[in-house]
Amino acid sequence: MRKSIVAVVGRPNVGKSTIFNRLVGERISIVEDTPGVTRDRIYSQAEWLTTEFNLIDTGGIELGDEPLLVKMREQADVAIQEADVIIFMVNGREGITAADEEVAKILYKSNKPVVLAVNKVDNPEMREAIYEFYSLGFGEPFPISGTHGLGLGDLLDQVVSYFPTLDTDVHDEDTIYFSLIGRPNVGKSSLVNAILHEERVIVSEIAGTTRDAVDTPFTKDDQDYVIIDTAGMRKRGKIYEATERYSVLRALKAIERSDVVLTLIDAETGIIEQDKKIAGYAHQAGKAVVIVVNKWDTVNSDEKAMKDFEQKVRVHFPFLDYAPIVFLSALTKKRIHTLIPQIKLASENHALRVETNVLNDVIMDAVAMNPTPTMNGKRLKVLYATQVAVQPPTFVVFVNDPELMHFTYERFLENRIRDAFGFEGTPIKIYARRRG
Ligand code: GDP
Ligand code: GDP
Repeated sequence: MRKSIVAVVGRPNVGKSTIFNRLVGERISIVEDTPGVTRDRIYSQAEWLTTEFNLIDTGGIELGDEPLLVKMREQADVAIQEADVIIFMVNGREGITAADEEVAKILYKSNKPVVLAVNKVDNPEMREAIYEFYSLGFGEPFPISGTHGLGLGDLLDQVVSYFPTLDTDVHDEDTIYFSLIGRPNVGKSSLVNAILHEERVIVSEIAGTTRDAVDTPFTKDDQDYVIIDTAGMRKRGKIYEATERYSVLRALKAIERSDVVLTLIDAETGIIEQDKKIAGYAHQAGKAVVIVVNKWDTVNSDEKAMKDFEQKVRVHFPFLDYAPIVFLSALTKKRIHTLIPQIKLASENHALRVETNVLNDVIMDAVAMNPTPTMNGKRLKVLYATQVAVQPPTFVVFVNDPELMHFTYERFLENRIRDAFGFEGTPIKIYARRRG
């Protein structure tokens, strides 16, 4: 089921980032610990009680140096287009400003649910500050304090109450959903066409168009797939042409709906910084990943060239060390047949569940082989492990004291698990927990 999307809109300095960090909390730090992942807080996962959602920090989107009112209008537009619920944040210490009124006008017309958060209400005496904000027209203002973490519960209860309950995205469990990401001109559209026009692929239905992408179902070797194409969407223009700069958000939503994400690289131009950032999104979302080196027709494509390029990919994308690399040409269709089997394998591994006793044999062998770390004279004791989730495979290792689980040791355990079970194409997550 698609997670609901919440956008935070407000003037600079009202405290959006502060709130964002609080809501995203622990989850973002896990992600940021991954070496090589470019930090990006445009879009992150958050959760309130048992409800998970995606949070957009519209303030984090690069809007250049337009005047404030123009920026505010753009921010509000993104929120309206992308979010299910909008948190409109104002500053309780400053009162209503012209920019607040401008944003209010736009949001008001949108018919999206808006929850008004009055930030910097750091103590109960300041609560009176909220009354003037009734005049913005969004009902009850919620007083909060980002720095002290006050009022967030009530705010989020209200936000969550607006989440759409009807799930219109039908995600068939037996179907593999995949999307393609990569900077403009890497060949996303060309690859979509190449896949769909491959001889042994049966395109069963007319493509369905969602707000952000064109979904095309097809079958190959009795396996059903849906290809989620955002690039094609861009090319049909109209509304989306105007919002090209937000194509990242569109790609992120496609990733969210995918089991497998194909990260495209252009062999002709080589790897650039933007590629790493885009690849980071797939990794952060916890999806299976296949790296596709496209335009392989443009380079001297012998075995050695492939090895050299692979080496480069591994250096530039250390956080995707689990992702298989496929070299192909969308233009000449050379090696295109090597792609689908990798998508299928990555998807299977993403959903793989291992047996607890076998897992524990692996973990205990690992511990016997490589002594656990110590800190202040105290040694980590690994008691047992269990797989708590799939997509991606997630493991909890019960220990005497989670503080003693150094990330290098966690990495070591991850590698042992990978050696034992494969998991090619999928990230895996490991959490250390105190035995309760
Ligand atoms: P953004 O530009 O909207 O993302 O705002 P920031 O989150 O960067 O916050 C701007 C400033 O306001 C920072 O100096 C924060 O420390 C401060 N700030 C944020 N939330 C609060 C709050 O609840 N109370 C007070 N007193 N200051 C806050
Ligand atoms: P997108 O922006 O990522 O969707 O990229 P397109 O599919 O529109 O491709 C951008 C350009 O690269 C077009 O001119 C394509 O013809 C070209 N192109 C795509 N794939 C290949 C390929 O495998 N080899 C070569 N030589 N050119 C390609």
